[in-house]
Amino acid sequence: MSEFSSLDLLPEIKKALKDKGYEKPTPIQAQSIPHLLEGKDLLGIAQTGTGKTAAFSLPLIDRLAKNKVKVNKRRVRSLILTPTRELASQIEQNIKGYSKGLGLKCAVIFGGVGKQAQMNSMAQGVDILVATPGRLLDLMSEGHVKYDQLEVFVLDEADRMLDMGFLNDVKKVISKLPRDKQTLLFSATMPKDIASLANSLLNNPKRVEVTPESTTVEKIEQKAHFVAKLKKPDLLKEILKDDSIESMLVFTRTKHGADRVVKKLAQDDIMAAAIHGNKSQRQRESALGRFKDQKIRVLVATDIAARGIDIPQVSHVINYNPPEDPKSYVHRIGRTGRAGRDGVAILFCDESEVGLFNDIQKHIKIKIPIDEKQPFHEKLSLHPDRKKKDQKPKKKVSMSKKARRRRSFRG
Ligand code: AMP
Repeated sequence: MSEFSSLDLLPEIKKALKDKGYEKPTPIQAQSIPHLLEGKDLLGIAQTGTGKTAAFSLPLIDRLAKNKVKVNKRRVRSLILTPTRELASQIEQNIKGYSKGLGLKCAVIFGGVGKQAQMNSMAQGVDILVATPGRLLDLMSEGHVKYDQLEVFVLDEADRMLDMGFLNDVKKVISKLPRDKQTLLFSATMPKDIASLANSLLNNPKRVEVTPESTTVEKIEQKAHFVAKLKKPDLLKEILKDDSIESMLVFTRTKHGADRVVKKLAQDDIMAAAIHGNKSQRQRESALGRFKDQKIRVLVATDIAARGIDIPQVSHVINYNPPEDPKSYVHRIGRTGRAGRDGVAILFCDESEVGLFNDIQKHIKIKIPIDEKQPFHEKLSLHPDRKKKDQKPKKKVSMSKKARRRRSFRG
């Protein structure tokens, strides 16, 4: 099956896909949608960038629109639980686009903004609710969200929920859902806790997997730049001299690091903005909006804040610092090369980061080429640990029995 037209989706949905310019289903969509249309549970191993949002949204919209029921006050017919605010509003926007003209009500709930508007949107009940766990529990405990009409539950980015410490909240939400429902769980990786959650949650699920966890998207050209820590801002500016780079996403290790990069770029009149946990929801949305509208060329982000950013035109991802967890590298560079486009991912690595660079290569099972021609190239030893090992070990000074006894008396 390689065309949307061969799927049993409502004509309105097919038209929306055509308007969006989607020509054919991505592999996760091709594999999931037929099972979901049959009402099956699903375990989807896929990361963002694969088209998984449409994979779960299209059959959901189709089901709810083909079988309209009156939704009672504060009731939801489907719940999509996702870890970040950005992801939640993106999913909501996508769903609104795919379900145009079908008369379904959709609402979104996340923290960091006032509750009143969210309570109002729930008052008359909704067909589709997209939510992050913390604020949802809050509104549930105040009686604003009820599940006795729930038909479909989607748990999105389950492994990220675990990473961000939301798993208990997720389980609390799940404990309030009716048993009889269609359930979908998506996760980029399958750590033990998520596998056991999937086991208890899903009923005889179909399993679909795209882009195995340790491989990186083929379309992305990856390279590493070895550079002294202090020269990183200059290297970044040098790369940005290439006018063909329209949208660049830069990842830093810390929030302060992100702010510093923005300041350094501003010194050269390069417009950039940062998104991270210290920024308010409004600041984050404004930065993202300006980036999407190409009013700024560079968006600087930390891992957590960047999760769920969906900006199809990102052509370059810069790892200003390599991530501590090699799996994040795959997520980070997956921000480019989306939806069939080509992308470039450059990893900056200073002397203290060689160990992390090695870990990433081991994880992705690919040797990332080192660009020695870039003007700030720094020769670094690829085996910093070996140097230490090769040093002669210091002689251990052994204590006399008497001294040992004296020391243990002193406690
Ligand atoms: P997701 O993995 O859901 O975040 O989607 C990644 C990107 O792919 C989004 O920008 C979608 O709009 C886009 N996309 C989803 N499905 C398709 C498709 N069938 N054809 C082209 N682009 C798509």
